[in-house]
Amino acid sequence: MLPINVTRSSMPPLEEYIEEIRGLWDSHWLTNMGEKHQKFQTALEEYLKVPHVTLYTNGHLALEGILAAMNFPRGSEVITTPFTFASTTHAIVRSGLVPVFCDINDRDYTMDAAKIEALITDKTVAILPVHVYGNLCDTEAIQKIADKHGLKVIYDAAHAFGVTKNGVSAACFGDAAMFSFHATKVFNTIEGGAVCYRDDAMVQTLNDLKNFGIHGPEAVPFVGGNAKMNEFQAAMGLCNLRHLQGEIAKRKEVVKKYRELLSGYGKITFCAPQPDVEPNYAYFPVVFESEKMRDAACERLKEQNIIARKYFYPLTNDFSCYKDLPTAGGDKTPIVRSIASRVVTLPLYAELGLDEVERICKIVSE
Ligand SMILES: *Cc1c(COP(=O)(O)O)cnc(C)c1O
Repeated sequence: MLPINVTRSSMPPLEEYIEEIRGLWDSHWLTNMGEKHQKFQTALEEYLKVPHVTLYTNGHLALEGILAAMNFPRGSEVITTPFTFASTTHAIVRSGLVPVFCDINDRDYTMDAAKIEALITDKTVAILPVHVYGNLCDTEAIQKIADKHGLKVIYDAAHAFGVTKNGVSAACFGDAAMFSFHATKVFNTIEGGAVCYRDDAMVQTLNDLKNFGIHGPEAVPFVGGNAKMNEFQAAMGLCNLRHLQGEIAKRKEVVKKYRELLSGYGKITFCAPQPDVEPNYAYFPVVFESEKMRDAACERLKEQNIIARKYFYPLTNDFSCYKDLPTAGGDKTPIVRSIASRVVTLPLYAELGLDEVERICKIVSE
């Protein structure tokens, strides 16, 4: 049996990509905001219906870009979730800020908005929630709290490309949203990322941050780094964007099959579907009754060459690099601790066969 990985990157037909990059052999313009970059940026602004998109070489640097652009005093506190990929917490700490961990709710595993206010201090400057698994956070409640206390809201929307709430894309919530276009995401540019936002004043800063602060051959008024998206990444994005709806439709069928086959089995819970949200079926997390059962299922799958991932385990506030951080320590976040010890994401990608889903479900339910 061929191995089944937890995900498989979406790729356009080879000929389509070749056609998209052919012109680069004439222009010899490979990076530095070339034609493909500009075209892709505009395509995203239209698709996401957001005023500004700034492209980055990956999602992580896009997130660090947002934090740098907001220019918070060093040591300021950012309320965030530990139920995420390393990137979210690392971006906060690498920016000289202090992550303060908020618990999640047990329905969709996003930040529990009811627990945010108790964490606000005079050092709090922002809330940085994650639309985990593509589930959208309670954006209204979070915005209300932010407005009341004068805080910025930054969404890690790495999982939520293509997701909408009442027709509004995940790009449009908060002061800024970050997307990752990493190879493993629903929509990829090989590596890549973007910042989406409304504030016109942020355009220049975000561009400066990704291109050394260079304004002209002899003008460098800003201390920036390098995080530009190149032409090959942008070309991949232009191609994959044409196929996105088809990919999501195929993922939907896979998820439907999983739910159908596993729903009668009482020892597993799924994320609750979100009313008003059109999902992208980015992941299929299941939560077992116990950690032992979860680990046993992972082992049995692995024996059959099927890779499921304990996503997200361990929690970022349990990482060894944060053991000395006074605000870490998962004890203050009991729900997330319980979910992380029992969750696993099952293989999910557009080309996953429904017969393979049946085989996976059989092993899991045994
Ligand atoms: C993938 C991911 C990132 C980082 O994105 P890259 O493009 O890989 O740098 C950040 N946050 C979350 C939740 C992610 O899943």
